[in-house]
Amino acid sequence: MLQVENLNAWYGRSHILQGIGFTVGQGEAVCLIGRNGAGKTTTLRTVMGLVARRTGAVRFKGEDIIGAPTHRRLGMGLAYVPEDRRIVRGLTVLENLRLGLVASPNRHKEAAVIDRIAETFPRLRERLHQAGDTLSGGEQQMLAIARALAADPEMIMLDEPSEGIMPVLVDEMFELFARLKREGLTILIVEQNVERALQLADRAYIVDQGEIVHSGLAADLMANPEIQEKYCAI
Ligand code: ATP
Repeated sequence: MLQVENLNAWYGRSHILQGIGFTVGQGEAVCLIGRNGAGKTTTLRTVMGLVARRTGAVRFKGEDIIGAPTHRRLGMGLAYVPEDRRIVRGLTVLENLRLGLVASPNRHKEAAVIDRIAETFPRLRERLHQAGDTLSGGEQQMLAIARALAADPEMIMLDEPSEGIMPVLVDEMFELFARLKREGLTILIVEQNVERALQLADRAYIVDQGEIVHSGLAADLMANPEIQEKYCAI
C-alpha cells in the first residue's frame, strides 16, 4: 500500500532523512522505532507532504505522491495523527470531527459517520459540543484519532499516540488499534512504548540517524534485546 524509496528530507541545511526506504503492505501494521531525534517524526511528516525539501519516492496505492499536496494524500485515503494532535482551538469536538469528514468519500452521510465514530469513542460522544481544546490530554489524543478515522482512510499513520497518556487510556487505545487492524485498516505507527508497538505490529523498522538500520518481524525483534538496547534506548 505504501512504498518509500530513498527518501531524503532537509530542515534548512540539516539533512535529516538520508535515504530511508520501507514498505507497508495492505492490512499490515508496521512500526518505526528508534531513539529520540532518529528521524521517525520527520519520516511521517515527509510521507504526508509536510516537509518542504524532500527527494525520493513515496508511492501510495501505486501512485507516486512525493509532489502531491497533503490534502490530496488525505483524499486518497492516507490519514495522519501528528504527535502534537493539532486539535483546533475554539472548535467543538463535533466541529473537529467534521474537519476529518471533509476528506471522506462518505462526507454526504455526516450523521452516519459521526454515529459510527461516537460508538467507537464513547468518551467523545458525551462531549460532542465541548470545545476540543478543553478535553484532557488523553481525550484530545482520542479526538485526533477519531478525526483521522472520520476521513474513512485506508491507511493511518500514528505518531507516538501513547505519549503523556494515562495507562488505562493507552490500553483502550491499543485495543482499538488492534480492532481497526482486524477490520482491515493499514497502520504505520511510531511509538516509544516499544513493547506495545511490537505487540500490535507485524513488522518493524529501526531508524537511526535518518536511515533504516534494521528490519524484521515484530516477533523476532521482541525476542532480540540486544538490538532493542542498541537502538531503542530513549
Ligand atoms: P522524537 O522521538 O524525539 O520525536 P524522532 O525520531 O521523531 O524523535 P524527528 O522529530 O524526526 O525525530 O527529528 C529528527 C531530527 O530533525 C532531530 O535532530 C531534530 O532536532 C530535527 N528537527 C525536527 N524538526 C525540525 C524542525 N522543524 N527544524 C529543524 N530541525 C528539526
